[in-house]
This record gives sequence, structure tokens and C-alpha cells, in this order.
Amino acid sequence: MTPQLSTDERTIHRPDHGSGAFIAGDHNIASFIGDAAGPTLIVVGGLHGNESAGVFALRNVASTLRDQSDRIRGRVVFLSGNTRALFEGKRYIEHDLNRAWTPSAMSRVGSQELLQTSEGIELTELDSILDSILITARDEVYVLDLHSTSADGMPFATVGDTLRNRKFAQQFPVAILLGIEEQLEGTMLEYVNNLGAVTLGFEGGQHYSEKTVKNHEALVWIALANSGILAETDIPNFNEQYSRLDSAVDGSRIFEIRYRHPVKPEDDFIMDAGYSNFDPIEKGQALASDRNGRIFAGEKGVLLMPLYQKLGEDGFFTGRRISPFWLWLSGVLRRVGVQYWVRILPGVRRDGKDPETLIVNTSVARVFPLQIFHLLGFRRRRWIGKTLVVSRRKHDVISPFVSERAG
Ligand SMILES: [Zn+2]
Repeated sequence: MTPQLSTDERTIHRPDHGSGAFIAGDHNIASFIGDAAGPTLIVVGGLHGNESAGVFALRNVASTLRDQSDRIRGRVVFLSGNTRALFEGKRYIEHDLNRAWTPSAMSRVGSQELLQTSEGIELTELDSILDSILITARDEVYVLDLHSTSADGMPFATVGDTLRNRKFAQQFPVAILLGIEEQLEGTMLEYVNNLGAVTLGFEGGQHYSEKTVKNHEALVWIALANSGILAETDIPNFNEQYSRLDSAVDGSRIFEIRYRHPVKPEDDFIMDAGYSNFDPIEKGQALASDRNGRIFAGEKGVLLMPLYQKLGEDGFFTGRRISPFWLWLSGVLRRVGVQYWVRILPGVRRDGKDPETLIVNTSVARVFPLQIFHLLGFRRRRWIGKTLVVSRRKHDVISPFVSERAG
């Protein structure tokens, strides 16, 4: 079942077309500079144009924050993502802006060719704003990206698994999903993560729900405290904001993405009705259908982000809880630098073009499944037959923005 949104539902959160409207190319929602040498928090809402809840939340937080701007220690920047798609109330105009931050597109930013598409223009505008903030950073930079989903369910954070991202994410009371960036090429967060920022994605709930706006607001307030920009005591109703997001599934809070079901328009993909984020699933359970028949779960775990809207390239994801022991062990191994030694093992060789990339012949190196590389902080690039290509996540332990002196 694909619930069709009426125009009325689309406009729930955009009641006024005066100061509250969306303007093409107008990315700046608000910015505050307390202490230019302090940490920076950048929050982007509406990178998908049908996910306006994040933008409304940022406008609400900004109007309260204005009254306490003298307490801000650091820099705060709130941005609208895909302004032209937000104006239209669509996920995107020509292509998904949150899949556009690929190395090849970034090398063409500002080129005539890229400026031919609406999202190419958006990418160029956002990149120049982010660039101006990052080059002037003198302390840690945190980037949050606010999203919403077509299915209902509890809110959760998506985190690229560097130790710095993990440490930041664990200060929030939300369920955390590791490894989504492995499944998606060209997300904005992966791009800024590679530039050295600490990043956190957040799925605040269902599009167009008032609850989602509140969840996003709570996340941003808690982020202002967790980044050290505001004192907890300066945050309105801190405890209320905290308990609003407090969530766990069967006592677990940290999950890893294991599988993405890709969808093309010609597949006629239809998700079975009634699924929510983090619903437990069994191996072999029917989840959806397409032109080739029924689609079943490959393993036991939890269902994530089932697609209940027309536009989208991800039908659903499945995930699994990660044990605290695994998290602890991976932290220890990465801090002592075990990852530098795996390249001398049989069946593992370095990519001649990129020293951070390893090529693993899995018929030789059979004892090193993908999980071992995850443990050591690598991300999967691709499988080519029995060959697995992995690369080290950049800036895993050390921030490029923080000098030794500042610690
Ligand atoms: Zn989104």
C-alpha cells in the first residue's frame, strides 16, 4: 500500500507563504556566533524537499535561541537543504540531492554542466556555504542532517562508524544505526565526514507529523549541549527534550545495517502495509512485492525505513543489534592501530592508487569476513565476485579541526 498524500497533508507544516515560505537558493535559516574560536554546530533540514519538518524545527529552535545568543560558546548555523524541492514539496526536482555528493560531482561543483540541473545548483550553493564554515573552524565541527520517513516508528540516528561519530552519538538517548553510508553513495554527511567533521543523521519520524518537528527540535537542543555550545541549564526543558527521544529496542540502542533492498521505478515495488521502523523480522518473512513476485527477509533482525512513498531508491533496509562487547573491542583495537597491520595478511593487498583502500581476496582470506573489517573501522566499497574492496574511514580517532593545544 502506498498511502497517497493529499495536497492538504502536504501543506500542514507550511501554512503561511509569507515569512515561512521556501525561497529557491535561500539556505540560511539562522546563524549565531558566540565565540568564533569555539566548536561549530551545523544543522541541515530538508535535504529531501518533502521532509520539511527539519526546516520548521530549525526555525522554531532559532527563534528561541535568539533570546540566549549571548550564552552561545561557539558557532551555530542552521541551513535549508534542497530549497527548490522544498518549495515544490517534492523529495527532489531532478535527482536525489543526498546522493549527489560523490567525488566526481564534487570535482565539477560550479561547472556549467552541473549547473544545468536543479540539484547541481543546490549542491554548488550548499558546498560553498559549508566550505566557508569549515575553513574558518578553530575547534570541533559537528554536522547534523535532519530527515523524516514515509513509515511511522520511533526516531533514530544514523551514524558513519568512526570512533568520534560514535562517541558523539552515544551522548544522545536515541537508537543508533551504524553503517548506512556503506549502502548509499554520495550522501552529504559522508562528504563532510571525509572532510573531518563529526556527523550525525537523524530520522525524526513520519513526514508531515507534528511529533516529528518536536523530535527534531529536541535533537537540536541536545546537540547544542553535547557539542559544548550551550550549557545544559540554558536549554529550555532539557529533561523533557531528553526523555522525548529516549528509546531502545529490546534493551538495545545500537544497531548495524546489514542489507539494503534497492528499487528502480520499473520494479513496481510495493511494501507490504503496516510496517514501522525497528519492527522485528524473522528470516524468510514476506516484506514486499515487485514485478518478480514476493520479497522475503534474508535474515532475522529489524526492519528499517520501509518505503511508503513513490519516489525513492531504497525499498527497505534490514539491521541487527550490535553487542556492547563488539563496540568495546572495536574501540580498543582501533585505538592501538591493529587496522594498520591487516594489510600484511595473506589475501589482503593495498590498492596502488589509494593507500586507505584494501583489496581482499576472500577465497584466500576466508577468516576475514566483512565484520572484521567493520570492527577495524573500514567501510565496504564493493564486492567484485569473491573480491571485497574496503577502505578506512577517515578521521576515525583524531579531529583535523582541533589543535593539540586545545586537546
Ligand atoms: Zn530524507
